[in-house]
Amino acid sequence: MGTSPRSLRSSSSSRPGGCPAPPGAPSAHSLPMESADVVIAGGGIMGCALAYQLAKRRLDVIVLERETLGSQSTGKCAGGVRQQFSMEANVRLQRMSVRMLQAFEQETGHPADFRQIGYLFVLTLPQQVEDFRHNMDMWHRVGLNEARWVDAAEAARMVPVLNVDDVLGCTFCPSDGIASPADVTSGYAVAARRHGARLKEGVEVIGVDVASGRVQGVRTSKGDIATRLVVNCAGAWSASIGRMAGLEIPVLPFRRHIAVTGAFPAVPRTMPMTVDFRTSLYFHPEGDGVLIGMSDREEPPGFVTDVNWDFLEKMFEQAARRAPALAGAGVKTAWAGLYETTPDHQAILGPVPELEGFWCAAGFSGHGFMQAPAAALLLTQLLLDHRSEIDIAPFAFTRFAKGSLVKEKNVI
Ligand SMILES: Cc1cc2nc3c(=O)[nH]c(=O)nc-3n(C[C@H](O)[C@H](O)[C@H](O)COP(=O)(O)OP(=O)(O)OC[C@H]3O[C@@H](n4cnc5c(N)ncnc54)[C@H](O)[C@@H]3O)c2cc1C
Repeated sequence: MGTSPRSLRSSSSSRPGGCPAPPGAPSAHSLPMESADVVIAGGGIMGCALAYQLAKRRLDVIVLERETLGSQSTGKCAGGVRQQFSMEANVRLQRMSVRMLQAFEQETGHPADFRQIGYLFVLTLPQQVEDFRHNMDMWHRVGLNEARWVDAAEAARMVPVLNVDDVLGCTFCPSDGIASPADVTSGYAVAARRHGARLKEGVEVIGVDVASGRVQGVRTSKGDIATRLVVNCAGAWSASIGRMAGLEIPVLPFRRHIAVTGAFPAVPRTMPMTVDFRTSLYFHPEGDGVLIGMSDREEPPGFVTDVNWDFLEKMFEQAARRAPALAGAGVKTAWAGLYETTPDHQAILGPVPELEGFWCAAGFSGHGFMQAPAAALLLTQLLLDHRSEIDIAPFAFTRFAKGSLVKEKNVI
């Protein structure tokens, strides 16, 4: 892995050897350069969760966030937390995240507002049923025993607004649910600060200093920081942090929309998160209304996050087919944010062997809120103990060079 805990410790606050001082750098007589064991680029859920786990293990951590903590993809997300994935590694990771969210308040002193209302996957094509049969076998094999099949009649009882005319079957996992992205992110951020982490807002990473074949520090909009380890937690912008270090990190941004209706009593707060798997339409109770989302699978990658109202119209047409009562629900608010997508829809976790001292926790492909708690703990174990209690090798960066990509199919 190439980065040992001992080698992480920043031995002095002077500029690491081999790096030329940038223009405007403080002179030898001014304040010494800041340093940290680990610098995390990006203060979304991933950066904050990782800062907490590393600081709890007594590493000196700085998080650099150019906007405000949790304001980008994390702040736009639907809060869904599920274990029903097609890749076994994702299921194992998610079982851990669910346990961590259940214990979140005890661990951090802050609520997660984790409500285990379940996820209902609605299947309307024979191939989906076939695929989910394999999924169900695997889920039970790895201990997700509460996941089960639900027929159309039961689905209609669980989700009274659901049109089940064409439904061939559903899978339901009652321990899935929704949590609050704002609460979980701020809970981790506050707890990280309590352990001494320095989380800085309005500070942009503008360069990564590399010398002698390894990371030596980062350059920021507010000065340089010496460090032996940079973790790229920049979400949809991870590729740009990679480029600063001369690396190609295969993460592309894709716009995704959400609309929230006004009060809608036909969808009670206990109703499961419901996913029409063919179209990717999903909805769940949100306050006294309903949160509705759907992916525009035709849209090319890009950083635009304006709301495309034409697409929202399509989304509501689809909602009206799957849940006709929703046709009458007015839109109270709508927004768009970015998925951070890799070629196989799997996260990139761990070291990038091409450059010592450069790690990634990025590319969650639309499931990063739910994966961040476990990912942060497992990465911390890998860094400090050289092994993690769940094998995260399937998420290694090296898979791209090997061409050994196995796609996660349950992407919404
Ligand atoms: C509409 C929508 C719905 C979603 N629903 C769900 C869901 O139900 N469940 C789920 O698990 N996931 C969901 N997601 C995905 C989830 O939001 C992301 O996977 C997750 O938030 C990624 O977290 P992150 O910390 O990696 O990225 P972010 O939250 O985007 O954080 C990265 C941060 O890096 C900062 N940054 C970038 N470049 C720099 C730089 N040069 N210097 C300093 N800072 C920088 C950014 O400002 C940003 O704050 C959804 C996403 C969207 C858009």
